[in-house]
Amino acid sequence: ESEEEAGQEYLFKIVLIGDSAVGKSNLLSRFARNEFDTNTKATIGVEFQTQAVEIEGKEVKAQIWDTAGQERFRAVTSAYYRGAVGALVVYDISRKATFESVKRWLEELTKHERVSIYLNGDFEFYHLRYHIGRRKARLRMDAHCDTTMARMLVGNKCDLENIREVSVEEGKSLAEAEGLFFMETSALEATNVQTAFEIVIREIYTNIS
Ligand code: GDP
Ligand code: MG
Repeated sequence: ESEEEAGQEYLFKIVLIGDSAVGKSNLLSRFARNEFDTNTKATIGVEFQTQAVEIEGKEVKAQIWDTAGQERFRAVTSAYYRGAVGALVVYDISRKATFESVKRWLEELTKHERVSIYLNGDFEFYHLRYHIGRRKARLRMDAHCDTTMARMLVGNKCDLENIREVSVEEGKSLAEAEGLFFMETSALEATNVQTAFEIVIREIYTNIS
């Protein structure tokens, strides 16, 4: 690799979406701080958290965005999605309605799909359909137009097996039909949380290298 490439730093914006109370904020706090909060009140204040992950010897930073409860009013703005290269679409396995909302969240994502990466601290915004890049990384992104956003379907609260309303098979088959990664997680018991985020981050990295 060239010197320019060797000096590159990656910062990927990843968004958490899904109905209210499915566990988005707790998935993030479990991933970023290994914490869980039993409090049911909606997230206030925190916009995003940055977490470093090492991939193939390179430090990749994931900037993970969490909603501030506006999903309750279906009022997630385009600023929230802007520049995202990855998304975790979360539902609650113990509430069927949250699974039925997944399609709508995917439509939202598609509507707002943009690709961006940060290089060497400079923010660069890429809209693949309108720009032909000067930089190598941008050209590489162009080569992967079809797989711009890494998306994972997350069935959270898998610890609530006794009141499950969505089967693993239902989750899997929706993910397959929509071309998403799939994983069931428990933010409460710290099951698969790290793995879910890391798969998305790794996929983004693979898409651009
Ligand atoms: P958000 O609105 O999607 O951000 O959801 P929160 O993270 O605020 O979680 C909503 C509620 O579900 C809170 O009472 C959490 O304690 C609870 N919760 C979140 N994740 C889990 C989980 O994995 N298992 C269980 N049993 N409860 C969870
Ligand atoms: Mg929240």
